Amino acid sequence: MFGKILIANRGEIALRVQRACRELGIRTVAVHSEPDRDLMHVKLADESVCIGPAPSDKSYLNIPAVIAAAEVTDAEAIHPGFGFLSENADFAERVERSGFVFIGPRPESIRMMGDKIAAKTAMRKAGVPCVPGSDGPIPEDPAEIQRLAREIGYPVILKAAGGGGGRGMRVVHTEAHLLNAVALTTAEAERAFGNPALYMEKFLETPRHIEFQVLCDGFGNAIHLGERDCSVQRRHQKVIEEAPAPGITAEQRQAMGAAVVQACKDIGYRGVGTFEFLYDAGTFFFIEMNTRVQVEHPVTELITGIDIVKAQIRVAAGERLWLRQEDVQFRGHAIECRLNAEDPERFVPSPGQITAWHPPGGPGIRVDSHVYAGYRVPPYYDSMIGKLIASGADRSEALARMRSALREINIEGIQSNIALHRRVIDDAQFAAGGVSIHYLEALLER
Ligand code: ADP
Repeated sequence: MFGKILIANRGEIALRVQRACRELGIRTVAVHSEPDRDLMHVKLADESVCIGPAPSDKSYLNIPAVIAAAEVTDAEAIHPGFGFLSENADFAERVERSGFVFIGPRPESIRMMGDKIAAKTAMRKAGVPCVPGSDGPIPEDPAEIQRLAREIGYPVILKAAGGGGGRGMRVVHTEAHLLNAVALTTAEAERAFGNPALYMEKFLETPRHIEFQVLCDGFGNAIHLGERDCSVQRRHQKVIEEAPAPGITAEQRQAMGAAVVQACKDIGYRGVGTFEFLYDAGTFFFIEMNTRVQVEHPVTELITGIDIVKAQIRVAAGERLWLRQEDVQFRGHAIECRLNAEDPERFVPSPGQITAWHPPGGPGIRVDSHVYAGYRVPPYYDSMIGKLIASGADRSEALARMRSALREINIEGIQSNIALHRRVIDDAQFAAGGVSIHYLEALLER
């Protein structure tokens, strides 16, 4: 096992990784930007290094600064968390070339999955069902693009090969708008991701977002940890997640789980990862793979009893998988609400000082958050300030606990999306289970 890990992230996930390290008896190095000195995990780390000023590209995305910090502190491995450098294949490569272990998949896997066209091609080859669409990038000839869209059938969605975070996508309903949409999305993709390549998919009208968690070692062993339903989204950003997905049968779980495990073996995947699917009329369609730990990993931890971050560190340290698929038992239900510092009406970030903070508690309640009373939420980064997770013997118990926790929780000094969570958790349609990805935006319009 490693003696010391550098955590190349901030906020809630940095604290989560630090907690895993503590349990494993691993010392931690926190790296942080200038305004982030007061982060909880920085205070608790064995060592900390300031790696630059506030803007992420000068600190959390500054590869030489992160690697230099690992060198001066003699860390053995680097945990990238999520966001920032976590899905940057060049970073993973440079970490390994500098003699450190990158806690994540091999750089080749990150690179393949970071190109969504390459990812879909690999998945199709591995027998994972994909959304019908272009086999590879869209053609250059305008007439060919139109023919492709007609063949797929409107509405279609244009997606950037290098896209992520819900950006670089455009839905097209009629041929009249197609070519203009291609031009706009290509320009955006070039600007945002440095890669103008687009592909086209059938736009599924009312799908659910269901994803499968995998855990693989470096010896070709792979298992899945079941699925999560992340359909409650706003602007393609997840807001509430749960596990298991309502209405998914054990047979469906087994079949899709087997498909993603086979895909992991085919591509020689190592570490944790998530296969994202759209689920429509009883069928799963692959959309992308995330090659890192995800925000919503706790709901899976709570129904499987498996600590995903500790598992990630153990396989990175070269341990052989200690679990067989039949050892993974699913028990109960878990729901997560992402807590954001944002204006509840306009959804713009609401940074500032937290003057009062009361996290809820009681049976089945878990709060993953780095904030405390007096903490100042900086304006420079993502507005997520934590996650409230409720679990229970079944979905209705988890929901009841979440409802009660959302009444107890108190954050003052900044605005938050707690009222929105209360509204969803109290909503009859959500309570019934199985809402589509358009549910939240429709609720907001009501
Ligand atoms: P990103 O990497 O930016 O998160 P994804 O490919 O995972 O992009 O898509 C994000 C979200 O966009 C999905 O969860 C879904 O809500 C929507 N989406 C993507 N592809 C389609 C599609 N073919 N039909 C309908 N909705 C889609």
